[in-house]
Amino acid sequence: MSEDMIPVHEQDPMPFECCSKNPCFNECCRDLNQALTPYDILRLKRNLGLSSQGFLKRYTAFHYGPGSGLPIVEFKSNPATGHKCPFVTSKGCSVYADRPGSCRLYPLARAIVMDRETKEVNEYFALIEEPHCKGFGKKTNLTVREWMDGQEVEFHNLHNDKLMELISLKNKILPGTLDGAQSDQFYLALYDQDEFRTQIFEQNILKDFNLPDSFLQTLKTDDEALMDFGIAWVKNMLFGIELNIKE
Ligand code: SF4
Ligand code: SF4
Repeated sequence: MSEDMIPVHEQDPMPFECCSKNPCFNECCRDLNQALTPYDILRLKRNLGLSSQGFLKRYTAFHYGPGSGLPIVEFKSNPATGHKCPFVTSKGCSVYADRPGSCRLYPLARAIVMDRETKEVNEYFALIEEPHCKGFGKKTNLTVREWMDGQEVEFHNLHNDKLMELISLKNKILPGTLDGAQSDQFYLALYDQDEFRTQIFEQNILKDFNLPDSFLQTLKTDDEALMDFGIAWVKNMLFGIELNIKE
């Protein structure tokens, strides 16, 4: 599919409006090839009342990146439906409140550059003009930043940026392909969160870390804290970076 990428700044006008009256309604939810991040999966499985394993099994497929060994999780592809998203309906997205970050941002692309020392994040944006999308050319009073705020993508960006930092660290410290055990640890801690929690509390996989009880109690109930801890655990298991958990 041909497309144009037009760089924009966050204070530029956003010449775009998506609504159900557009003739292309739902077109962007077909022909999918969409990677899901750990935070996307967390929000979707909560929306659907599923365990992470139940969600992953029913709705996703995954493969290991050929050069990196990193797990890549995508919506399960279904040629019979034109590879449409399992959540698209004639009325639109059935999981709208918890749709993935990339769905929220479309047709905006966001890239970040993070300073390794200060962790300061610089954001860069571009509009992706694809022929099927008829939302362009509409006059709105919104800037790119205001439009993005309306998509409530802040938490997705926050958590997805932590994943990007982990991947960039992996590429620096362990360039090349992860071995099978390392890839499995990455998948367990970041994507199959409920199984990770089970292994922590029923198989005692953290027994050598001597973690404070109060912190362990938090991991029992707080999904976002467990996801952050998963990143720290992967850094420890793969790169030997010390776990720095404060009571
Ligand atoms: S999750 Fe919702 S918005 Fe995203 S592709 Fe599926 S139906 Fe479309
Ligand atoms: S194709 Fe573009 S304008 Fe049409 S529904 Fe999707 S995002 Fe909105």
